[in-house]
Amino acid sequence: MDYLELARCYDDLEKTSKRLEKTEILAALIKKTTKDSLRELAYLLRGRVFPIYDERKIGVSSKIAIKALAQTTGVSPEKIENLFKKKGDLGIVAEELIKENKQSKLTSQRLTVKKVFENISKLADMQGAGTVNRRIQLISELFSNATPLEAKYITRTLLEILRIGVAEGTIRDSLIWAFFPDRVSYDKEKEEIILKCSREEYNELVEKVQHAYNLSNDFGDVALSLKENGLSSLGKIKIGLEKPINPMLAIKIDTIKEAYDELGDEEILWEYKLDGFRGQIHKIGKNKYKIYTRRLEDVTNQFKELIPVLEKHTNADSYIIDTELMGYDPKTKRPRPFQSISQRIKRKHNIEEMAKKFPVEINVFDIMLLNGKNLMDLKQTERRNLVKKIIKPEKQKIIITKALITKDKKKVEEFYKESLKMGNEGLMAKKLDKEYLPGRHVKGWLKLKPIKEPLDLAITGAQWGEGKRTSMFSSFILSCKEKDKFLEIGRVGTGIKEKDSELTFVSLTKMLKPNIIKEKGSVVELKPKIVVEVNYEEIQRSPTYNSGYALRFPRVTRIRYDKSINDINNIDDVKRIYNKQNKSLI
Ligand code: AMP
Repeated sequence: MDYLELARCYDDLEKTSKRLEKTEILAALIKKTTKDSLRELAYLLRGRVFPIYDERKIGVSSKIAIKALAQTTGVSPEKIENLFKKKGDLGIVAEELIKENKQSKLTSQRLTVKKVFENISKLADMQGAGTVNRRIQLISELFSNATPLEAKYITRTLLEILRIGVAEGTIRDSLIWAFFPDRVSYDKEKEEIILKCSREEYNELVEKVQHAYNLSNDFGDVALSLKENGLSSLGKIKIGLEKPINPMLAIKIDTIKEAYDELGDEEILWEYKLDGFRGQIHKIGKNKYKIYTRRLEDVTNQFKELIPVLEKHTNADSYIIDTELMGYDPKTKRPRPFQSISQRIKRKHNIEEMAKKFPVEINVFDIMLLNGKNLMDLKQTERRNLVKKIIKPEKQKIIITKALITKDKKKVEEFYKESLKMGNEGLMAKKLDKEYLPGRHVKGWLKLKPIKEPLDLAITGAQWGEGKRTSMFSSFILSCKEKDKFLEIGRVGTGIKEKDSELTFVSLTKMLKPNIIKEKGSVVELKPKIVVEVNYEEIQRSPTYNSGYALRFPRVTRIRYDKSINDINNIDDVKRIYNKQNKSLI
């Protein structure tokens, strides 16, 4: 297939914001694509040359693209840089420059999808200094054979900003429209989908294709399978090592009773819901592992201290296990919330130092593949038994997530309280005979956590600090509203930083000082002007404050510059949350 066809398709996609129209444009192109360039097309449509989980990036800087353009067209890099600044889109600059250049040049070869894909893939594998000239060469080979429109989209692909507004679901639907014309078509005039089968059958079809994608995360695989033999070959898409699976997720519930209503009046597997982050771990062979996040990013290098732990404490040749990586305080050994370890995910430097400062414990709760065998169709309980078989637990290294299988709602309530006391988020409820299904599904996994609705409150008072902090406020009085009155609901000093933040004691003091109305001892009364967003563990009844309520463990999360004092939460909001949180769980 000529790359020009793809470039025209990008152009058409960019011109419309309507999803159905985009789907139709894509489906028409997919129909025309032969087997030998379908994989390439599937990746390029998402502006990539690899499946999404592949961490390799095209990674061409605008500087290199400009140099290649300069080499092809003879226009100076400075001039191109200026044009780029003016237009803000190097793709459009490339289009214009190639247009001018083409007029003076006659011979050029037609670019194919395969050729563009090949050169861009080579670029991604060729990182670092010393390769600059070779990279410029590869890009300029493409530019010198490109039409203006092709140059525009080659440039955007190189810079990884395609701007055609095509999401995962649109590609999935376009594959269905392309390969199942007997089930669905599109009426351009009326802008309507025409179903040639029942809605249920169509939904089932969508679900099957989505499932195949959830397993492989690779539209190249899905498109090729569909082209080969329709639905029957989708079954051939296998989960595999180094190909992360979309994780199974949970639906939120507010009470224990809801879990039994939803999953049936039978025993449920309840597990601690931990506040770490999802780690899908693949053992490929001895000392060879991959760790992927929930969004399928490869974070093996950032967490390489876990490899010896896995090697020592797991017993199998290969597997894919589902885990939560839980941060803990190296001194107290208490769990740390996700925010404190999240910085490790993107870390490129000082990885060893970070591993010591922010250690994690692997909490294993599921297994999808063991010694080459796919376990996803096994029951939840069978999979959990296999987890127990291969893990040799040791605290702070690797453990099996604590669980309770019961029908007794009272026991669940105790287990829930225990989990919260341990610093966890709540509980997960899992149906005993459920298979592993990527995504969120009814009658699958459920999550139970305390209701947390942050409140927007006014700062109506503050207290001067002591010692080093005498010249600044160290705690702040928070109020909600009742009509035009302000009612106090708590006092907060947490969440505000000493330095290196927008939200420091110094900056808040500076902001609030002009609003002082009265001073009494170390306490000041402030004109309510500043609104802050506040998180808390719980709302309690309290005689201490004139609202009659108090926030337990309040923490300021940010200043709401966007909210005026009239927009803060009122006492009715507080009462509503209080009542909701005290609703019986069982
Ligand atoms: P949420 O992010 O609130 O939708 O909750 C889903 C997340 O909870 C998953 O992606 C996991 O990272 C996390 N999680 C914590 N504990 C468990 C558990 N026992 N089973 C499954 N997921 C868990």
